[in-house]
Amino acid sequence: MEIRSVGVVGAGQMGNGIAHVFALAGYDVVLTDVSQDALDRAMATIDRNLDRQVKRGAVTPEGKAEALARIRPTLSLAEAGATDLVIEAATESEAVKQQIFDALAPHLKPHTILTSNTSSISITRLASRTDRPERFMGFHFMNPVPVMQLVELIRGIATDEETYRTLLAVVERLGKTAASAEDYPAFIVNRILIPMINEAVYALYEGVGNVRSIDQAMKLGANHPMGPLELADFIGLDTCLAIMNVLHDGLGDTKYRPCPLLGKYVEAGWLGRKTQRGFYDYRGDAPVPTR
Ligand code: NAD
Repeated sequence: MEIRSVGVVGAGQMGNGIAHVFALAGYDVVLTDVSQDALDRAMATIDRNLDRQVKRGAVTPEGKAEALARIRPTLSLAEAGATDLVIEAATESEAVKQQIFDALAPHLKPHTILTSNTSSISITRLASRTDRPERFMGFHFMNPVPVMQLVELIRGIATDEETYRTLLAVVERLGKTAASAEDYPAFIVNRILIPMINEAVYALYEGVGNVRSIDQAMKLGANHPMGPLELADFIGLDTCLAIMNVLHDGLGDTKYRPCPLLGKYVEAGWLGRKTQRGFYDYRGDAPVPTR
């Protein structure tokens, strides 16, 4: 099946990146959110990130203008539903996602493929509550979407082969690489990455190191391009906590218990870069550790 139009639901960190790469690859994109503010910020971010690509010579100025013209921001979920492929990239909450798929149902075309960019929620369960579990998949982009090469494709139990092949072709057209994962909590990347971040927060909580020494240790000692706490701020601490809870609940192993300090940061509303404060404070010229 050929995909021409794409509806992106949720215009946050991930939604704006997803709209960006699809528009650059020539797809018509409808970008929707419940907040006009989020839509305005998303369009400004896409503009800025495209500018960066133009400066690097990766995109021509005409290419940028064409990509921007292909994205239609709207508060109407119905318009996003009337496309060939819907990518749900709203807040990581099963209740929110459920409500979105319910509200989309009357607006979908018979052939529309439904996908979720969820980092951790069961694809099989989300799919089972729609009218098309065979045309439902996990479509997991990495942050920042325009930069990261990988896309995880997660088949639910009912996903059919045609849907899988269609999405494989889409990933190829985006110039990205797919890794197939089975539908178990947090799939592959986050199953391994988020417990490592949680362990870094435990190391901070127990006083093994401070923010700077933990990040420095993993950068220089394990050759990671970013320290785990810096990375947590980048992902969003609420998202990290939600994924630990899904691993803990879904696998029932105490090794996945979320660090209480991670919960404290989320309670404080210190969610990382998106709120300008997390393990680092980003309100000044340079990030300052908060512990
Ligand atoms: P975000 O908080 O930056 O953005 C979420 C957006 O969804 C907000 O703009 C919010 O207004 C909108 N939203 C909430 N309810 C909505 C509704 N009913 N209809 C339409 N829009 C609604 O979150 P994010 O980091 O972009 O994450 C989005 C999804 O992507 C989550 O499922 C997350 O697990 C997943 N994800 C995140 C990352 C990451 O590194 N942040 C990486 C891969 C996948």
